[in-house]
Amino acid sequence: MKLDDPRLFRQYAYIDGKWTHGDAGREEAVIDPATNEVLGHIPLLEADQIRAAVDAADAAFVQWRALRVDERCERLLAWYDLLQAHREDLAHLMTREQGKPLPDARGEVEYGASFVRWFAEEGKRTFGQTIPSHIPNAALGTLKEPVGVAALITPWNFPLAMITRKAAAAMAAGCTVVVKPAGETPFSALALAELAERAGIPAGVFNVVLGDAPMVSEVLCKEDRVKALSFTGSTPVGRLLLEQSASTVKRVSLELGGNAPFIVGPDVDPKEAALAAVAAKFQTAGQDCLAANRILVHESIHDEFVAHFAERMLAFNVGNGLDSEIDIGPLIHRRAVDKAAAIVDDALSKGATLVQGDQNRAPGENFFMPTLLTEVTAEMKVWREENFAPVAGITRYSTDEEVIEMANDTEYGLSAYIFTHDIRRIWKIMRALKNGMVAVNTVKMTGPPIPFGGVKQSGLGREGGTAGIEEYLETKYYCLGGLGSVSGS
Ligand code: NAP
Repeated sequence: MKLDDPRLFRQYAYIDGKWTHGDAGREEAVIDPATNEVLGHIPLLEADQIRAAVDAADAAFVQWRALRVDERCERLLAWYDLLQAHREDLAHLMTREQGKPLPDARGEVEYGASFVRWFAEEGKRTFGQTIPSHIPNAALGTLKEPVGVAALITPWNFPLAMITRKAAAAMAAGCTVVVKPAGETPFSALALAELAERAGIPAGVFNVVLGDAPMVSEVLCKEDRVKALSFTGSTPVGRLLLEQSASTVKRVSLELGGNAPFIVGPDVDPKEAALAAVAAKFQTAGQDCLAANRILVHESIHDEFVAHFAERMLAFNVGNGLDSEIDIGPLIHRRAVDKAAAIVDDALSKGATLVQGDQNRAPGENFFMPTLLTEVTAEMKVWREENFAPVAGITRYSTDEEVIEMANDTEYGLSAYIFTHDIRRIWKIMRALKNGMVAVNTVKMTGPPIPFGGVKQSGLGREGGTAGIEEYLETKYYCLGGLGSVSGS
């Protein structure tokens, strides 16, 4: 891989500050989804090596938590500076392994780095409380203490930011981490390890393990020394990891799938709303947990909205994310293309209308042309499942009550979008939606200060913001007795 700094491309796991091969010599190829070219190989570690990473993180925890918080945070800031300095290489690496267009990859590096900076600041503000005492001659209060080793298991759609959003919060809190990135996109995680080392983050604080996912995850979930598990990925795997973590009663945060409704009221400009819906649907080729999965448009502007939506889609360039002016890259692998095709076939067999999406024009095996379906109904997979592809489904509705019921008709509850200028309608719908995050008249809602997360089967806990660091902190209550009385109090 051609990088300005070739040492950012690592084909090893990273444990206790050392680059390591698997003991068993097993390895796996990592493929560029745009070309099917082999980018490199990664070792598949055995269970003993996953435990060795936990040993390293457990040992490093003693010194890392004991560092003064400003020293810890200085190292995180040094990490942030290095992420910025190597932005181009990190973006290039990401486009090669994930497929997203280079400008989007640059945006993700920026987004991922922003969590490191934010938590480097927030780490200094993990204040406890002073509690007015109800016990004679005693002082009461709380301290915030790091939970210990955190296991971080992440997906391929945001290979860098999903790691920093967790790791920066954990490390700022004083925890050490064992990261298990997705098998499809390990190189961004390994580049993060290389830069963590250069930033002076001590050996054992940030470890990256690779291997057979069910085995690695089971070892991490069942390890008693792992005190927190933070997982981003699909709901079925999240359920499994929650079950596996029960035997050690650890902290579990889950950022799972979404099936976002995008509600368009009768009072908005159909073109403006359609352009916003396109932006909310097709980022990362629709492989985004926030993607507008079900677009619900008031019947009075439905046809105009569909016309603008379809027109905007015609301007999309689909191709290799390294080429200039590409809007939509490949899907992560062929299986994702087959799943998208099955979702479209299912919808068409149940009465949906195909407005756009000629798959004969796909520029390669792993590409799926942006597709628009209308007359979508709740019986179709495109409604029920998180399609994770550039497939948009539009449905019409007539009343606020009806659209609220439609929007909530899913097991998921991550994000939702509302477009209307009627403040009473906004308030009514926003309060009735069963989602962790609601964006009103905008599609941009994420960033380091916000509590990102879902309700229902979209997850547990929050990432980012003050809530994000709490996931890695215990509250220790203290009662200092026998102090005598304080005169004047
Ligand atoms: P996934 O299949 O659940 O994989 C996520 C991670 O779990 C990967 O590291 C994967 O490892 C591992 N894994 C897969 N199968 C496993 C198993 N049986 N046991 C234990 N670990 C297993 O999810 P994905 O396809 O990578 O990512 C897409 C999903 O992530 C979507 O549902 C999306 O909505 C969700 N997501 C949610 C958020 C959020 O913030 N809520 C953000 C981004 C993505 P291998 O890759 O090595 O198999």
